[in-house]
Amino acid sequence: MTGRPKKMTQTDKHQQLRDLPGVDHILESIKNDERFFEIPRKVILESIRSILEGIRQDILGDNTADTHKNIMKKGIIEKTIIEKTLGAAREKIKNRLLPLINATGVVLHTNMGRALLCENALENIQTISQSYSNLELNLTTGKRGIRYTAVEELICELTGAESAIAVNNNAGAVLLALNTLAKDTQVVVSRGELVEIGGSFRVPDIMSKSGCHLKEVGTTNRTHLRDYEQAITDNTGLFLKVHTSNYKIEGFTASVDLSELSELGKRKNIQVMEDLGSGTLIDFSTYGLPAEPLVSDSVASGADVVTFSGDKLLGGPQSGIIVGKKETIDKIKANPLTRALRIDKLTLGALEATLKLYRDEKRAVREIPTLRMLTMSYEQTCKKAAALQKRIKEALNRQTSEMQTTDTNVRVELAELESRPGGGSFPELRLPTQCVTIHPENMSVAQLERRLRLSSPPIIGRIEGNRYILDPRTIQTEQDEIISITLEKVLLKT
Ligand SMILES: *Cc1c(COP(=O)(O)O)cnc(C)c1O
Repeated sequence: MTGRPKKMTQTDKHQQLRDLPGVDHILESIKNDERFFEIPRKVILESIRSILEGIRQDILGDNTADTHKNIMKKGIIEKTIIEKTLGAAREKIKNRLLPLINATGVVLHTNMGRALLCENALENIQTISQSYSNLELNLTTGKRGIRYTAVEELICELTGAESAIAVNNNAGAVLLALNTLAKDTQVVVSRGELVEIGGSFRVPDIMSKSGCHLKEVGTTNRTHLRDYEQAITDNTGLFLKVHTSNYKIEGFTASVDLSELSELGKRKNIQVMEDLGSGTLIDFSTYGLPAEPLVSDSVASGADVVTFSGDKLLGGPQSGIIVGKKETIDKIKANPLTRALRIDKLTLGALEATLKLYRDEKRAVREIPTLRMLTMSYEQTCKKAAALQKRIKEALNRQTSEMQTTDTNVRVELAELESRPGGGSFPELRLPTQCVTIHPENMSVAQLERRLRLSSPPIIGRIEGNRYILDPRTIQTEQDEIISITLEKVLLKT
């Protein structure tokens, strides 16, 4: 029956090309099609053209007559073009930056936007962005004001610092501080602290971009105070300590305390700086987590400057915060680079609202999503996992009963697993978490992962062994329903 398909002749092809409807014809046909109403005319035109061009190429290409007969059947061809145009146009107007569901359990996930903002921050962004503001207007004098004023006092209050400034991000903060304090001088750093953070930020590189000369001291695992002292020359401008936030050296190790180094700096008249990376304003050890360095401790140890990130453990918007001695921060404020790295007004509004919550620690832990997810107890994750499992099972059973099948082919179970904090904080730490595991039987786990990732909204979980894992620690409550509906579609679609 199915003999070899005949090749189309040149004449067939030309006939088919002539039969193709024109752009104007398609435009006329969709004139009353509501699905196109929201799409800009320019996009529709481009889409029709590219779809028609694709079909022309198909006809001219080496395809068989049968395929063509199928697309070219009268009436069908026009409908096909319209549907394809709609698909192409929708694809074109779709946002590229999309919200997604983070079911990986990694709380501070750099690839997924790091910290989620708290409600107060969102409200303030809206308030500030829909209105003119006193961003750089001093309401008391009526003269030009300084944009950092909105957060400076608050940061000082929360960290005990004399002075503060916030910039675009922590990498910018480090660059700016190094450039201001130590351009053209030697900066002494322990070999154990020459770290790389997220590929593009390496301490030696940022050092040379700041115009500083790196002087490495000590060894990878051990550095002593005398190493810093012996490295001093006439051109030494700064001692820099870097929090090795994303890795940990264990065993025979030694490093110098910031307070010891500050003491030495004071004696030798050399400035001291610390890049804390993920510095925190609350003591995580009171929540059963390992202690991460508190910004206030670094300030109290007498360093001239301390920098940290606004969207790591702080749980605010992307920003870099520099705190320290007034004299030093004043110099930083006067550096022309500050203008290039300045914080935007929306970020400033979000940062102010987030920082204000820290005046009441209990409230901060409740309302700042990063803190809430990190301090979530195992018992809480059990409750969340059970609720999610129930929802998913209901969705899958609903489908199978409609299809009158008895076997769902899917196992949805609970398992005690571990979440990771991420974001270069708490290296090694694993948070015990009850997760929902899915064992699909009609497709591979990799296929399931891919389908969920390509869903709308995308759902990103993790694969462990032969199971797909949904980690409730980073799943927001109202997302259970979307997950179960999507799973229903994805798993039972044959
Ligand atoms: C994360 C980190 C940075 C970079 O901070 P961003 O806010 O991502 O720019 C710099 N130094 C350390 C030690 C870090 O952990």
